[in-house]
Amino acid sequence: MAALPSSMFPPALDTLEQDNLVQAIKDWSIANGLAVRPPPAIAGNDPEGILAINAPVTLFPSPFPKACFVQAKAIQQAYNELYANISRDEGFLNALVQEVAGGDDFIANLWDVHLRVKKEGYVQNLSLGLFRSDYMVHHDSDGLQIKQVEFNTIASSFGGLSSQTSSLHRHLAATEYPLLQHPAVISSLDLPDNNSTTGLAAGLKAAFDAYGPSPNSHPTCVVFLVQDGERNIFDQRHLEYALADTGAPVFRLPFSQILTRTSIPPADPLRPLLYHPPHNPSLTFEVAVAYLRAGYGPGDYASPSAWEARYQVERSRAIACPTVLTQLAGMKKVQQVLATPGSDTLSRFVPDPNSLIAVRRTFTNIFPLDSTPAGLEARKLATDPEACQRYVMKPQREGGGNNFYRGAIPEQLRAIPESHWGAHILMELITPPPVANVILRNGKLEQGGVICELGVYGTCLWDQTGTGFLHNEESGYLLRTKGDQSEEGGVAAGYGCMDSVALV
Ligand code: ADP
Ligand code: MG
Ligand code: MG
Repeated sequence: MAALPSSMFPPALDTLEQDNLVQAIKDWSIANGLAVRPPPAIAGNDPEGILAINAPVTLFPSPFPKACFVQAKAIQQAYNELYANISRDEGFLNALVQEVAGGDDFIANLWDVHLRVKKEGYVQNLSLGLFRSDYMVHHDSDGLQIKQVEFNTIASSFGGLSSQTSSLHRHLAATEYPLLQHPAVISSLDLPDNNSTTGLAAGLKAAFDAYGPSPNSHPTCVVFLVQDGERNIFDQRHLEYALADTGAPVFRLPFSQILTRTSIPPADPLRPLLYHPPHNPSLTFEVAVAYLRAGYGPGDYASPSAWEARYQVERSRAIACPTVLTQLAGMKKVQQVLATPGSDTLSRFVPDPNSLIAVRRTFTNIFPLDSTPAGLEARKLATDPEACQRYVMKPQREGGGNNFYRGAIPEQLRAIPESHWGAHILMELITPPPVANVILRNGKLEQGGVICELGVYGTCLWDQTGTGFLHNEESGYLLRTKGDQSEEGGVAAGYGCMDSVALV
């Protein structure tokens, strides 16, 4: 990291400099919607729901190796193709679902939704993925390279705030950093473009266009299926506004209101998903694209009717982002099977030999915890108080806060029946080189060592019954940074913060 020696980064700030920079960030963030709704403690004093606060963010872009950044972006289209092809392979997913479903009702229920629709026949073959592949930089004998943390196939968030964060740091680099007493430390920063908002919106628009006109002459629309009380709403709004700018009507619909606000006419074999806006029930739209920013975890399925709601979306003619199969392609179990050394699974889904090598290079060791020979070996590591320190154990869950780290692994395994261990995977911890930065969170500064996680967005539209792609793009990036004492890095969950890369 020659251009930004870690001993000099971030630049030391005196109190006045710090106050000035913080004020600049606070104002720019609100003026440009780099914001979230306040946490309950503050929101309790906001009965009209008018408050927005700064999204947590670093004062400076974090130094990030250019070669790793280029590598991660270059590989995204191959990753899009890989996961679309997995979604197309029902037999492959079925086998993995059966391996985890015994210890995981949520996955079993998702599979049931798919089977119910399969029985009556899918009426929509197009499938949309707004993906995000997450990496950390890993240092080994081959030098610095990216290793994949996970691949998200549902509700990949922060694309709407991420391009804003890049813009914030660019603004500061043009206006505030040069005025610091040590401007040389951060002069001529290499801050790459970040089109995450428009890139994701373009993916949604591609699906909206591919749906075509309604056979019943209704106006068509995109519906964002969202959680009640979502605090990360501006992230979603940025995508919505960018999509609306392309001319597509967009509505937000709480996941809990799908069955009240949408319907499929019983006698119509095309099964259009009709949406009735609550503020004007005389209007009927036909949903071209159902974009799920909810429904990724058990919390959204508190009652059987929530499963009926998911079924209604899945069986309809709307293009789902994602379908159940695409959601299941994002299981950590899938990632583990792909990463198994010597397996030819990956080559089935990535036909191009160069892409195959490039994708495989991003894998780290991931083991099953089932009763296969490999699983029994991994169980020894997971239950050993010393060996477990190098691992994270993951269930088939999304959204942060679900994993078990290091010494907590044996404890958790003891708490669940051995027959359910196979519903988890055991993954080697990636240890990125140390970086320091300053995080501004809820108006307070946190200074020290940080860990950066790079996400690359991908947008992909494909026909489940075909082999090609109607749209396949790399769509911008996310840099999420957390204090190096924190295990989890979710911004919404309160541990991580928004950041951008300064390439070195
Ligand atoms: P989720 O789908 O809930 O986001 P992740 O697999 O991304 O689950 O894990 C959550 C967080 O845990 C990551 O953002 C990262 O900070 C940390 N983490 C996960 N796997 C690893 C790993 N192999 N090495 C280091 N940190 C990890
Ligand atoms: Mg994650
Ligand atoms: Mg995830």
